[in-house]
Amino acid sequence: MVRTYRPQSFQEALEIKKGAPVITIAGGTDLMVKRRRSTGLSPYFEVPAMFIAHLGEIKGVRFDGGNIRIGAACSFAVLLQNEATPPILKTAVSRIASPAVRNMGTIGGNICNASPAGDTLPVLYARDASVVLKSIDQERILKISEFITAPGETVLREDELLKEIVIPEKPFDVNFYRKVGTGMTNTISKITFTGIAEILNGMVKDIRITFGAVAPTVVRSRVNEERLIGHSGKEIEKMIPEISSLYSALINPIDDQRSNAFYRRSVSLRLLGHFLRALPGC
Ligand SMILES: Cc1cc2nc3c(=O)[nH]c(=O)nc-3n(C[C@H](O)[C@H](O)[C@H](O)COP(=O)(O)OP(=O)(O)OC[C@H]3O[C@@H](n4cnc5c(N)ncnc54)[C@H](O)[C@@H]3O)c2cc1C
Repeated sequence: MVRTYRPQSFQEALEIKKGAPVITIAGGTDLMVKRRRSTGLSPYFEVPAMFIAHLGEIKGVRFDGGNIRIGAACSFAVLLQNEATPPILKTAVSRIASPAVRNMGTIGGNICNASPAGDTLPVLYARDASVVLKSIDQERILKISEFITAPGETVLREDELLKEIVIPEKPFDVNFYRKVGTGMTNTISKITFTGIAEILNGMVKDIRITFGAVAPTVVRSRVNEERLIGHSGKEIEKMIPEISSLYSALINPIDDQRSNAFYRRSVSLRLLGHFLRALPGC
């Protein structure tokens, strides 16, 4: 039988984490699949399990001094309803799974699961999101790109919990997100593409481009983005072949049961082209 904890506060959850090894369960939509056993047997946990999805302190979304703060246990359904959720994140979340999974699955679980196909991740990378990690003894704030190190791997310590996600509050004029899968939503992504841009006087003032599911972690290059800053849509249209080859060198897709590397590479670069052509003035 599995021993379980249901802390009454986030502080109590941290105390439990400090005391002994426990596995954290938020919505359980990844864990219950990973730990499933034969029909009739309950999922296997080698250490006690601690439930956190009910903790009100980590379930909200709010504006705070130039940032948007999203509690780690915020479900996808709540993110979709909240006015503080950035529109591009809402678009990505609306393409995740089915209503049942969106009611249970959390943004914190999507991040800590660190799947290359996690659908919120490319948006969070593009929006320069940070994660707030808490233990009883300290708080660490890391860029999401520093937090996720490899498929399924993060720098989360044994005594830590992800508390919240912080996204700088900044409007973008162009918000382009595409998920490519076998179906519209209830499907694991073959590819995701995110492109956002800020335009001033017909020129690109800021631009962010990310690719999901085509490398061990999300692909983003500030160097490549900076090549596009200061150019008009017309100029960028002419740069598409050059920019595409720069990104082609960065992405490293694989063949698996969902797709193959050739398809993933060619569709990713086409989506890049669509986004760049969608910039005003093209
Ligand atoms: C049918 C189905 C369809 C799906 N479709 C999609 C999809 O389209 N796109 C997509 O991206 N994902 C999809 N998923 C995967 C899953 O729903 C998401 O990754 C979801 O965000 C996981 O959140 P959770 O709260 O259920 O995580 P859990 O399963 O509870 O936890 C996942 C991992 O994160 C850790 N964790 C969770 N919260 C914290 C925290 N606050 N601090 C520290 N560690 C934490 C857990 O210990 C565990 O290791 C699907 C899953 C299913 C079953």
